[in-house]
Amino acid sequence: MDRRFFLQALGCGCLSLGISSCTTVPITDRRQLKLIPESKLNAQAAKIYEKVKEKEKLRDIGKRIEYSISEYFERSNIKDPTSGFDWEYILIDNKKVKNAWCMPGGKIAVYTGILDITKNTNGLAAVMGHEIAHAVAKHSVERASRNVATNVVLQVTDILSGGKLSTVNRTTGMNTVGLLTQMGILNPFSRKQESEADYLGLIFSSLSGYDIRETSKIWERMKKSNKGKEPPEFMSTHPSSDNRIKNINEWINDIVINYPPIEQT
Ligand SMILES: [Zn+2]
Repeated sequence: MDRRFFLQALGCGCLSLGISSCTTVPITDRRQLKLIPESKLNAQAAKIYEKVKEKEKLRDIGKRIEYSISEYFERSNIKDPTSGFDWEYILIDNKKVKNAWCMPGGKIAVYTGILDITKNTNGLAAVMGHEIAHAVAKHSVERASRNVATNVVLQVTDILSGGKLSTVNRTTGMNTVGLLTQMGILNPFSRKQESEADYLGLIFSSLSGYDIRETSKIWERMKKSNKGKEPPEFMSTHPSSDNRIKNINEWINDIVINYPPIEQT
């Protein structure tokens, strides 16, 4: 195609709209309409691009952790507890919700709000490692089994009173969680389970090649963002304490030595 083609075949509404709303394509000299400021469009595009990047990062971290877990269990001659998992990762665009969760079976969700606390790749890997650890340790199955008798009664009472759904809504940031609530999937875990998820999460992040020293920093940041304000959702579903940070710091050195990164293929 030559210049003439562009000039003749692809006209625009420039003349009818006045010369100020027009611009010219370099080399082809084709006149084009320009009603939207370029800077505005570029800024919008950059925002979308950032989100795509975060989504990709989430998937990359997830894939690494997935692989490391299976590889570790295979090498250790232990049955892989994730063999029946159907892993999936979603980034939910909600800056107000500082939360993340992993459903049994490997369905992981991270809200954009928590990215202010995770700050970097190692931070995000720590939160994902922790959430994945809940799924690997089958904490939901344990909790559901333990609560199965009392749950039915509580559930009916809570739904009738409207209390349960609002609590879950606050802690998970989800709007329609009736079914998950009934199954007890998104309720807070026990302290023992939280501690176990902290420990296993560190191991999984370390095996996947992330710097697990960032983990205690996240909990510090989580604590800080808690000060004088509403606690971030992640804290209401994941009780934090100085004791927890202390434990994590005590585990880090041993885990770095005993669970070195598994080479990713
Ligand atoms: Zn947890």
